[in-house]
Amino acid sequence: MMKKGLYIHIPFCQKICTYCDFCKVYYSSSLSDLYLDELFKEIDSYHIKDISTIYVGGGTPTSLNVIQLDKLLNKINSIREEDVSLSIEANIENLDEEKIKLFQKYHVNRISLGIQSFNSNLLKIMNRSHTFDEVKDKIELIHKYGIDDINCDLIYGFEEENLDILNDDIEKLLSLDITHISLYALMINQNTILNNLGKKEISQDLYRNYYDFIYNKLIDNGFYRYEVSNFSKPGYQSQHNLLYWKNREYYGVGLGSSGYLENVRYTNTKSLTKYLKGERVFEREKCSIEDKEFYSLMLGLRLEEGIDIKEFNSLYNKNLLVSYKDKINKLINSGLVEIKDDHLKITKDNFYIMDYILKELL
Ligand code: SF4
Repeated sequence: MMKKGLYIHIPFCQKICTYCDFCKVYYSSSLSDLYLDELFKEIDSYHIKDISTIYVGGGTPTSLNVIQLDKLLNKINSIREEDVSLSIEANIENLDEEKIKLFQKYHVNRISLGIQSFNSNLLKIMNRSHTFDEVKDKIELIHKYGIDDINCDLIYGFEEENLDILNDDIEKLLSLDITHISLYALMINQNTILNNLGKKEISQDLYRNYYDFIYNKLIDNGFYRYEVSNFSKPGYQSQHNLLYWKNREYYGVGLGSSGYLENVRYTNTKSLTKYLKGERVFEREKCSIEDKEFYSLMLGLRLEEGIDIKEFNSLYNKNLLVSYKDKINKLINSGLVEIKDDHLKITKDNFYIMDYILKELL
């Protein structure tokens, strides 16, 4: 049996970033206490078993105080078998030594830091306020407590950005002792402060220039792109996210989370009031075999290694290269995809037009 993942959402943040359209609310100690009680009930309701990874995201998990964080990690420990990896998102501004000590106590394997940039002007635009030295010190502290798998998120694509600023951000990231970098192209989504301020997205050509620039710098410095927006040092891919891209099942618990269990994709309510009353799942969608196949192709092509043809054939009881023969041949002849080591994959320079390739294929 294929193991599942578990995603746990902590929706609290002490500050709201201007680009954010995630499910979040301002941190309050009393609301967080109530939330954790409901979250634990939801976790218990699933009788969770057969998982290989747990990911605690948000919001900002480290906005919880030390007592709350201890309670959460203790709960996770009660359902976690020894070899299950545990990742947690953290924010430099509220990550302190006591919280890192807790991560060590509960054998957290991986910490993901929302850095986004080191440029003070961009950080101000985002409503964030760390400095490079603070980030460096926190990363050293994390290492001191024995955790060496550290991701940093980077956002690119602000109107106020240019190649010098981007270069400086990447150079600073590369000087840190980290194993993974996740890239986010800035999107100005409707329900964001940036949108209300009338900020605009940059042109597609500029996005592409920035992406290529980052790609080349990271590859030249020992990082490997294993997914269109994710780069790691060898052996440090995000096991939890790989499970999503391989279209495996996962439990999703907490406000606004989604999950995928027994061929059903579900989403929890985004209303904290409802969630605290125990009204959790908001939407359920049964996946037909065609839906599953669609997701496997769509998600698999995001990976550098591509879609495992043998696995696909045995899962869907068909031959990928026969069922999609004409479309795949057309894409191969255009140099957009290739077949390598029994995998169907996008060719090196064409990840940027993945949407077009998917449209052609699906
Ligand atoms: S980006 Fe993260 S830290 Fe910032 S407001 Fe959104 S959820 Fe909170």
